[in-house]
Amino acid sequence: MATVSIRSVRKAFGSTEVLHGVDVEVQDGEFVILVGPSGCGKSTLLRMIAGLENITRGEIAIGGRVVNNVAPKERDIAMVFQNYALYPHMTVRDNMAFSLKLAKAPPAVISDKVGRAADILGLTPYLDRYPRQLSGGQRQRVAMGRAIVRDPQVFLFDEPLSNLDAKLRVQMRAEIKDLHQRLKTTTVYVTHDQIEAMTMADKIVVMHAGNVEQIGAPLELYDRPANLFVAGFIGSPA
Ligand code: ADP
Ligand code: MG
Repeated sequence: MATVSIRSVRKAFGSTEVLHGVDVEVQDGEFVILVGPSGCGKSTLLRMIAGLENITRGEIAIGGRVVNNVAPKERDIAMVFQNYALYPHMTVRDNMAFSLKLAKAPPAVISDKVGRAADILGLTPYLDRYPRQLSGGQRQRVAMGRAIVRDPQVFLFDEPLSNLDAKLRVQMRAEIKDLHQRLKTTTVYVTHDQIEAMTMADKIVVMHAGNVEQIGAPLELYDRPANLFVAGFIGSPA
């Protein structure tokens, strides 16, 4: 079961504590969004799940296994960043195949997984193109393709749409949700955009200055905000 359990997690950089004891349970197959203003600690928490930051206090378990001391590449996760850097000198196919080649997967397996991911993402006609020959949305799909081919237990997204224009952002929200409907991969998705959170999440975690203010389904937060911060944040225009 691809659950993610965040238990009493604290993070300090030097003497400054930026996460003050966070508890979040992500169920198998759930699409959970961490939302909150810039600087509240969303990326830090996501990077701790990925193993890119160490955990000062508390523990994180993925699929029931405590991963505090597990290296990033030993965690069954795949991360899509805001600044998805594609390899400019590689085709779409090779960009998606790269991590599988590194892992020494057999060519037939690589070809099958890349083909399947391209099909899901509508990238089949573009497999032989280079990143510079793609639109912003297509590049974003390749970045997601690179994550999908690894069949991870958990997808981690950090503001994947924030470099796209407004129209494309709305379209990609729907595509990412559609992808989740198909694959049902447990997902933790970070955004500062409350509209994105309200429209995409099964469950929203509202963060503020290193604390969790409320956790609930979009409608629950809308109908019964726990405090003025949540009410103000959810209710403010994008
Ligand atoms: P968010 O993603 O919600 O905008 P971050 O997780 O990036 O917030 O940052 C949370 C806080 O931690 C901020 O005050 C930020 O300045 C601080 N921070 C993040 N990374 C580091 C770091 N490597 N060293 C020192 N402080 C950091
Ligand atoms: Mg961030």
